[in-house]
Amino acid sequence: MALDWLIIGGGIHGVHLALVLRERCGVAAERIRIVDPHDRLLARWEACTAACGMQYLRSTMVHHLAPDPYDLLRFAQRSNAEPHHFHGRYQRPSLAIFNAHSQTLIEQHRLADITLRGRVCGLRRHANDWQVETDHGTLVAHNVILALSIGEQLRWPAWAHTARATGAPIYHLYEPSFDRRCITPGSTVAIIGGGISAGHAALTFSQTANVTLVMRRPIQIAPFDSPPGWMGPKELRRFHAEPDPSRRRAMIAGARLPGTMPVELAQAVTSAAQQQRLRIMIDEVSAVIYRDGAFTLSLNQQSLTVDTIILATGFLPQRPGQPWLDETIATVGLPIAACGYPIVGPDLQWAPGLYVTGPLAELEIGPVARNIIGARHAGERLARGVR
Ligand SMILES: Cc1cc2nc3c(=O)[nH]c(=O)nc-3n(C[C@H](O)[C@H](O)[C@H](O)COP(=O)(O)OP(=O)(O)OC[C@H]3O[C@@H](n4cnc5c(N)ncnc54)[C@H](O)[C@@H]3O)c2cc1C
Repeated sequence: MALDWLIIGGGIHGVHLALVLRERCGVAAERIRIVDPHDRLLARWEACTAACGMQYLRSTMVHHLAPDPYDLLRFAQRSNAEPHHFHGRYQRPSLAIFNAHSQTLIEQHRLADITLRGRVCGLRRHANDWQVETDHGTLVAHNVILALSIGEQLRWPAWAHTARATGAPIYHLYEPSFDRRCITPGSTVAIIGGGISAGHAALTFSQTANVTLVMRRPIQIAPFDSPPGWMGPKELRRFHAEPDPSRRRAMIAGARLPGTMPVELAQAVTSAAQQQRLRIMIDEVSAVIYRDGAFTLSLNQQSLTVDTIILATGFLPQRPGQPWLDETIATVGLPIAACGYPIVGPDLQWAPGLYVTGPLAELEIGPVARNIIGARHAGERLARGVR
């Protein structure tokens, strides 16, 4: 029998949309399934945030997984959480309280019971439904939500590929097998990257190891991943008035602030450097040699010798879901822009009953699409359309 709703991806976006379907659209739990390859929901989120050691989210207290924006605040009050769980001018929630709240929602709505373990590898139109191939079998659903992210597409610089191929201790911070215990006390570590992940990792790893943060340019400060106007109508009105997807893509690129960190993290990193708890080198790696248990990094102006290299170089921006989604696009004739991303309507439908969120919804939601607020915008559109 066909499912009513199948959500592909059990991350921040997939879980939020499942909660929107349950709470705002009144869809019964047995009519929804989430499919994800991990043994628990939010596994990628938990792994990435734990890997870099981040303590507070970059986003604010109204950006979380419950449909009601004040639910996290009420959760904190109910559980008598200490005031330090909300930090600074933007009231950024601690990772601890964000995760506790998320798990409570998952339990309350029994989302684990409606989650199927599997990786989708094919999607076809099947009469008026969607036929979804997974590595654990075939599913059929009236409606499918693609909640894929770019979080599995790690960016490895070319010089790093070669070193990794020899088995040398060079890791991407967000590779699933990364284990912080590879950084032994007193070892020397180079962290490559200049954004928020690099900043958090530098502070965390410098508690046990001798860390050098190698960044292309001095620390760049920004409160969020894009200017706050993009979270609401101030910038989005202009964005939605633009019909040309290529110009929308250019607006997204212009609005994003990659390689930046909020001021409080920047201050913590700078002060750690001043107190010689870590070192900052403004330079770029051009090559690396691994010999006799040590790396020699050739930078443009100097060189550096370390035991371990950690890449905080982020993700590749290409459209997620390759290669199986490419085939769906070709066979179903789904519209895509020159950048390869979906052209969808305001209700986020790419074809009847096929919805997108996250990066796949960028050309409709704008530069914040990948963030938690992007999931909330997608939830708003879904709730409006389904009701
Ligand atoms: C360290 C870190 C901190 C961040 N902090 C913030 C923050 O403070 N505020 C904010 O707004 N944003 C933040 N972000 C950005 C963003 O909110 C997160 O990356 C978030 O996890 C994105 O949610 P998602 O559901 O799109 O992706 P994910 O959490 O990556 O989940 C996607 C899921 O889909 C699954 N999947 C992929 N392909 C398939 C397939 N073929 N079949 C089935 N399942 C599949 C994946 O395995 C994964 O489980 C942060 C990102 C990182 C990396």
